[in-house]
Amino acid sequence: MARLRKGLLLVVSGPAGVGKGTVNAALMAKHPEIKMSVSATTRAPRPGEIDGVHYFFKTKEEFDRMIGENAFLEYMQVFGMNYYGTPKSFVESEREKGNHVILEIDVQGAMKVREACPDAVLVFIAPPSLKILKERLVGRGTETQESIDVRTATALEELKMLPKYDYMVINDVVEEAVGEMEAILTSELLRTERNTNLIMKLTGGETV
Ligand code: 5GP
Repeated sequence: MARLRKGLLLVVSGPAGVGKGTVNAALMAKHPEIKMSVSATTRAPRPGEIDGVHYFFKTKEEFDRMIGENAFLEYMQVFGMNYYGTPKSFVESEREKGNHVILEIDVQGAMKVREACPDAVLVFIAPPSLKILKERLVGRGTETQESIDVRTATALEELKMLPKYDYMVINDVVEEAVGEMEAILTSELLRTERNTNLIMKLTGGETV
């Protein structure tokens, strides 16, 4: 039997340091049917980052080859130096299986995904304030002062894009943010346009 409902494509953006990774990891720990897409990037791995887990680390030549093969749902040069892209095949195969896929990507990438996949759900994770965001970046201890300044300035630009998203979740208390993400998933799954197969089944194929 054909699957009644395709999995959701959830695009999650938010400034660096806002805790997107923490919220998404906690959400996935509760929901094995939610999978994280692993992006490809040309940036160097940070300490502790594993190829194929955090990113697929690529040379510029390898990345260019993937572009040529139309292997990306979207790709982008972020912070003016490194390339990041979402491989298409994983997203499509998981959604066909009925699993939900999270893309943790930046604002411009999110807009490209909206164009390529109009049924994507765009969620922005915002900090309680810009001051708290900066404190979190400093506390992470992996960024240079220059990188913190660039990322704080970028954060303000990203926050201005909030109205282009479908939902906003403020990450103050992680468990609450996770609960709000679950509410978004539940609501989206109940939308009639995502349940056309079920409606057809109920009506014997007849709708007004
Ligand atoms: P980082 O270097 O801190 O891991 O990520 C830098 C930025 O790249 C973040 O804003 C992150 O969301 C974005 N990013 C990661 N993967 C992708 C991707 O596949 N596509 C796009 N457009 N942005 C990405």
